[in-house]
Amino acid sequence: MTQRTALVTGGTGGIGTAIVRYLAKQGHKVVTNYRDEAKADAWRKAMEQDGLAITLVHGDVADPTSCQNMIHAVHQKVGPVDILVNNAGITRDTTFHKMTYQQWMDVVNTNLNACFNVTRPVIEDMRTRKWGRIVQISSINGQKGQYGQANYAAAKAGMHGFTISLAQENARFGITVNTVSPGYVATDMVMAVPEEVREKIVAQIPVGRLGKPEEIAHAVAFFTTEDASWITGANLAINGGHYMGW
Ligand code: NDP
Repeated sequence: MTQRTALVTGGTGGIGTAIVRYLAKQGHKVVTNYRDEAKADAWRKAMEQDGLAITLVHGDVADPTSCQNMIHAVHQKVGPVDILVNNAGITRDTTFHKMTYQQWMDVVNTNLNACFNVTRPVIEDMRTRKWGRIVQISSINGQKGQYGQANYAAAKAGMHGFTISLAQENARFGITVNTVSPGYVATDMVMAVPEEVREKIVAQIPVGRLGKPEEIAHAVAFFTTEDASWITGANLAINGGHYMGW
C-alpha cells in the first residue's frame, strides 16, 4: 500500500475519530483539525495511548481564511493532501417556521460551505499530482429529508451535488470524489437526541440497531484505496437498511 497524507476534518468527533484511526492503522499519515487546544491535547493523548501519532492543525471549516491557513499548516507539517475527508458537521435542529437565520447559516456553513473552504485549497495540488481521493460525509437525512432538519438536510443534500460535479471535473486527473451517507450512528450527535426519540428511530432500522462509527470508517477507507479508482460520483448509504433510495 502506498502511504498517503490524509486530512480528516472533525477527526476528533465520534465518526471522525473512527476514520482517523482506520486510515492511520492502514499506514497513512493522518491529520485532523481542532478548535479547542485543551480538547485537542486530550484527544491526541488518547490516540498516542493506542500507538497512533496523529498530526493536529488549528482550523474552523466554516471560515475560508482559517481553512487556507489550515491547509498551509498541513503542507508544512506533513506535505500535500492526497486524501480529504470532509467530515466535520453540526446540527441546529428546529422546525423551519421557528428556525433563525443563524441556525440556518451555522449548519450550511459548517456542513456545506466547508466543502468549498477545505477542498478549494487542496484541489489544484491534487490535479497537478494526478492523484486524489475526496470523500464527503453526508447523511441519510440529506437523502430523505427530516422533520426539524431543513437546514441540515439541505446542506447534506448539497454535499452530494458538490460530489457529483467535482467527480466529473476531476476524473481525468486521477481524483475520485464520493459521498458516504450514514444513517443514525451512536455518537454524541445522536446520543444527544432524547432516548424516547432514539428508540423510535431504532424501531425504523431493519438491522435493529444504531450504526457504529467504525462501520462508517470502513466505507470511507474503501473509497480511498487504489482498487476504488473506477468509483467516482457514488453515494454509499450505510444505514442498516433505514433508507434504500438513491
Ligand atoms: P460529532 O459531533 O461527534 O463530531 C463533529 C466533529 O466536527 C467534531 O470533531 C467537531 O469539532 C467538528 N466540527 C464541528 N464544527 C466544526 C467547525 N466549524 N470547524 C471544524 N471542526 C468542526 O459528530 P459525528 O461524529 O456524529 O458526525 C460526523 C459527521 O457525520 C458529521 O458531518 C455529521 O453530520 C455526519 N453524520 C453523523 C451521523 C450520526 O448519526 N452521528 C449520521 C449521519 C451523518 P469540535 O470538537 O471543535 O466541535
